[in-house]
Amino acid sequence: MKLTEELEAVQQVARDFARRSLMPLEKSVIERESARGLDAEPVIEPDVEARLTDEVRELGLWGIEVPEKLGGAGLGLLAKAVAVEEINYSITPFRLPPESPNISYLDSVATPAQRERYLDPLCRGDKTSALALTEAGAGADAGGIATTAVRDGDGWRINGSKLWISWADKVDFFIVIAVTDPEKRTRGGMTAFLVDRDAEGLEISKPIPTMGEQRPFGLFFDEVRVGDDAVLGEIGEAFAPLTNRLGVRRVEIGARCVGQAQRMIDMMCRYSEERHTFGQPLSQRQAVQFMIADSVMEVHAARLMVHDAAAMLDSGVRDIRLEASAIKVQATEMLSRVVDRALQVHGAMGYSKELPIEFVYRNSRVLRILEGPSEIHRGQIAKLSIKQRGRA
Ligand SMILES: Cc1cc2nc3c(=O)[nH]c(=O)nc-3n(C[C@H](O)[C@H](O)[C@H](O)COP(=O)(O)OP(=O)(O)OC[C@H]3O[C@@H](n4cnc5c(N)ncnc54)[C@H](O)[C@@H]3O)c2cc1C
Repeated sequence: MKLTEELEAVQQVARDFARRSLMPLEKSVIERESARGLDAEPVIEPDVEARLTDEVRELGLWGIEVPEKLGGAGLGLLAKAVAVEEINYSITPFRLPPESPNISYLDSVATPAQRERYLDPLCRGDKTSALALTEAGAGADAGGIATTAVRDGDGWRINGSKLWISWADKVDFFIVIAVTDPEKRTRGGMTAFLVDRDAEGLEISKPIPTMGEQRPFGLFFDEVRVGDDAVLGEIGEAFAPLTNRLGVRRVEIGARCVGQAQRMIDMMCRYSEERHTFGQPLSQRQAVQFMIADSVMEVHAARLMVHDAAAMLDSGVRDIRLEASAIKVQATEMLSRVVDRALQVHGAMGYSKELPIEFVYRNSRVLRILEGPSEIHRGQIAKLSIKQRGRA
């Protein structure tokens, strides 16, 4: 798909940034990840991450999708997706700020006071946030959460715990989903709250080691008291805006997968010409050609799906549940297949830490689980398709 001149300019700036500032860090990312073992040391040094953040600001990549009324460039989610793809060409896990999904969530429901206290600083980069939805007993089935928020005078008392929450050690506040009406639950009984990380009664666990670079955390709420002004959106109605927020996140995840898979393809193409076996380059073997060809077709399809869904959101379509679920399944599973082929084509080198392939192989695996496992999304795609056909 031919991009507009404006999008091509964004793409070029992001591409140059990835090549100039992220790719040279890859060796250190792999070494730091290997050296830390079960510890929580970040794979990008904090001062390096701060420098990268300053650089994206200077380059105009900061807030490209954030509406102009919120101080961003207002170029839309398609522009963000284009930039995210380019940035993820590098394995250095730098996530282009600010946090679009939470900005979009807050922008849809925040009160003027919440906008001033949370949304504006989020857009400026003065604050960061995380979504705290999953619990030990409820992940894919988010409707089964047990954390409660009970009325207490002019405020609420939150009790319970959350699990697998990303970046909990460094964000300034959480969007916490709690049960406010146990009878109604997902049908009007779940409410979102804005809870500061330093709220009294909120404890954050040690980071949980995983097979990838991400180290999520547990959160424990012991009589955490928040005011009525902490309620985000309507009482009991956390789910509709949450679904929109997850839609934005899934488009971003799709763009991330496309960027990483494109890198794997480029590596496969180069290596297949360099490496000779039995007197011929690998590029002459049909088995290898097919692995490259299948990967190229799959990445192309995923990229078009991402661009299409992002353009839908940019044009004002709010309900992209079907498209977002389709991207979540197709792009994440596509990346698993492509990185597996890249590893195969590179043989032992692909398996080693000399190359970034094994890093992508391990780190891409979680994308088929978080933000809803593939099985849930397949179910959702089928349900929505059957319903739409019923309406036709
Ligand atoms: C690194 C990492 C970061 C995360 N960050 C966050 C975060 O910031 N905030 C947050 O709230 N959560 C976060 N999560 C949680 C993540 O969203 C959940 O792990 C995910 O929703 C799945 O829930 P679960 O792990 O409890 O799996 P479960 O719900 O226990 O499901 C286990 C498996 O069962 C299968 N399954 C479940 N239900 C069905 C069904 N109906 N039909 C068919 N198969 C089914 C699927 O294969 C699924 O993978 C994170 C997780 C990880 C690993």
